[in-house]
Amino acid sequence: MKIRILGASGGIGAHARTTSILVDQDILIDAGTGVGDLTISELAAVDHVFLTHSHLDHVTMLPFLLDTVGAGRERPVRVHAQEATLGALQRHLFNGELWPDFSRLPTPEAPFMTYDTLPAGAEHVLPSCRIRSIPVTHAVPAVGYLIRGARASFAFSGDTSVTDEFWRVLNATDDLCHVIIETSFLDADLELARISKHLCPALLAGELKKLKAGPQVHITHLMPGREEDIMREIARHVPNNTPKQLERSQVFEI
Ligand SMILES: [Zn+2]
Ligand SMILES: [Zn+2]
Repeated sequence: MKIRILGASGGIGAHARTTSILVDQDILIDAGTGVGDLTISELAAVDHVFLTHSHLDHVTMLPFLLDTVGAGRERPVRVHAQEATLGALQRHLFNGELWPDFSRLPTPEAPFMTYDTLPAGAEHVLPSCRIRSIPVTHAVPAVGYLIRGARASFAFSGDTSVTDEFWRVLNATDDLCHVIIETSFLDADLELARISKHLCPALLAGELKKLKAGPQVHITHLMPGREEDIMREIARHVPNNTPKQLERSQVFEI
């Protein structure tokens, strides 16, 4: 399984891209601004998009992806998420006002996309991997994902605050080799992290205590311009087995 990081920032500016991970050629986890760096043929190869939640930094490129390659594809792109997330997309994005309703266009019989409900906690089985959604804690309904390939697994928290189920599932996964988790803010912004349901280094340290030793931990969704400060605070809180900053364009083969 090939995991290519397209975006790993909490925002934009300079070389920052928001959240998106390409798994092999055909699976996107979230559709942040990093998707815009793919070539047309890479965009056309995406058959599945799994969304962690409805926030714009995680879905913003989906409308453009469909508009760019929809007409040239032979089947709809399948968009997987829990019902609350798909409902938000239908009501607020693909509503015929912000963007066309590509679940019914160009024709209801052959649309550019389909909505596939994946309840929080459920698993979707694909030929190359199994993708399990895990409920996490955020300002809107949100999930993380555990992606299980033939040889190994990796996990992605999506946006989250303090949570337990994510760690329970990870600790029960023997072949877990990478965990990608967000840390959006500095410790000075603890109150902001609590209100917006994100993590800061102090909260992350508490979360990592719940994880059994084993996988490499990578940090994503850092506030643009504060990346080094956030990573320095994390190193102070977690001196042993310090997590690494996830970088755009990084590739993992597992
Ligand atoms: Zn969010
Ligand atoms: Zn986000």
